[in-house]
Amino acid sequence: MLKLNRRIAAIKPSATLAADARATEMRAQGISVVSLAAGEPDFDTPERIKEAARKALARGMTKYTAVGGVRELKEAIRAKLKRDNNLDYDVSEIVASAGAKQSEANLIATLFDEGDEVLIPTPAWVSFAAMVQLSGAEPKFVPCAESEGFLLTPENLEQAFTPRTRGIILNSPSNPTGAVYSASQLAELAAVLLKSGIWVLSDDVYEHMAYDGRVPHMFEIEPRLRAQGIAINSLSKTYAMTGWRVGFAAGPKEVVSAMQRLQSQNSGNPCSIAQAAAIEALTGPQDDVRVMAEEFRKRRSLVVERIRALPGFSLPNVPAGAFYAFPNVSALLGSTYKGKKITDGDGFANFLLEEAHVASVGGNDFGAPNHVRFSYAASTKDLNEAFDRIEAGLKKLGS
Ligand code: GLU
Repeated sequence: MLKLNRRIAAIKPSATLAADARATEMRAQGISVVSLAAGEPDFDTPERIKEAARKALARGMTKYTAVGGVRELKEAIRAKLKRDNNLDYDVSEIVASAGAKQSEANLIATLFDEGDEVLIPTPAWVSFAAMVQLSGAEPKFVPCAESEGFLLTPENLEQAFTPRTRGIILNSPSNPTGAVYSASQLAELAAVLLKSGIWVLSDDVYEHMAYDGRVPHMFEIEPRLRAQGIAINSLSKTYAMTGWRVGFAAGPKEVVSAMQRLQSQNSGNPCSIAQAAAIEALTGPQDDVRVMAEEFRKRRSLVVERIRALPGFSLPNVPAGAFYAFPNVSALLGSTYKGKKITDGDGFANFLLEEAHVASVGGNDFGAPNHVRFSYAASTKDLNEAFDRIEAGLKKLGS
């Protein structure tokens, strides 16, 4: 058998990207699939951003750039962090990368080692645990109860610490639950984290998809955490730029320089043309961000209503942010489809794909096997079509 690196051999493909790939494959076979799988805005990248890329291309911005991004991009990120998050960073504390995913993976590889434990409150995005495992450290899942709105409590946090705990990954608004921490909840968690001295990784990629007002940032609430904290963000969701691959991290200079050293060896600069587009995205008029967020708000209402009307689905918490609904389908587990028992969220997502031709992501890799994730970053027409199909499909389940 082919011998692969032990850590690489142990990782599975990303469940979110795999679900989307399956939908694409079925479409290629001529099957009409409605995909609510990957979290990807259906909007086109705003024209002003595309135009900046065209201009960059025309003036020949096609060469290597500084590994962590051109100075102008870092300045734009610095200004964004001040404008949106009230955080003051120096450009030497900022690194841009090919998507937030690369920043996150590089950061985790930079900070953690074999023997370390990294806390991941669950449900959590599928790739956090894989990134931690790749670094050699161990993910330690901290389950957050649905009855608590899927939010980590200071008590649960304190109980999760062991002498090996070195870091925590927080994500508000959350993928997949849509949960958002309030300023007072963040302050309580921050007090525990400050005392612990562990690294705090704050994944902020859904900050602009928030339906109850501005999302507070933990490092704004507790500025002393800046010394042990790194803010990670992306242009993918905010500006409908998933394919451009631009993300960034801001944190202590030594950490950021180490991430840059790693990036210089394993990839290099984020795409030069995408950097030009990102500068325009961050510094130009921000109206498109608000327009898209308002549209997501409307879709959220539709999706919550449709899910709550489905027999066996339970969605006690209205997602306060991001663009996912994460219903509990435990009442339907144990049903059969084509003679086979459906035992978990992944099995349920497979049933939805096979019977209803609706792609979703099962909850297993999010750490919530009784759940299924639907992205509502899809048109109203597709959303209605998807839930019509699911409604019809559920009738095919046997007991
Ligand atoms: N983060 C998005 C999702 O959860 C995009 C796919 C990915 O990179 O996981 O669907």
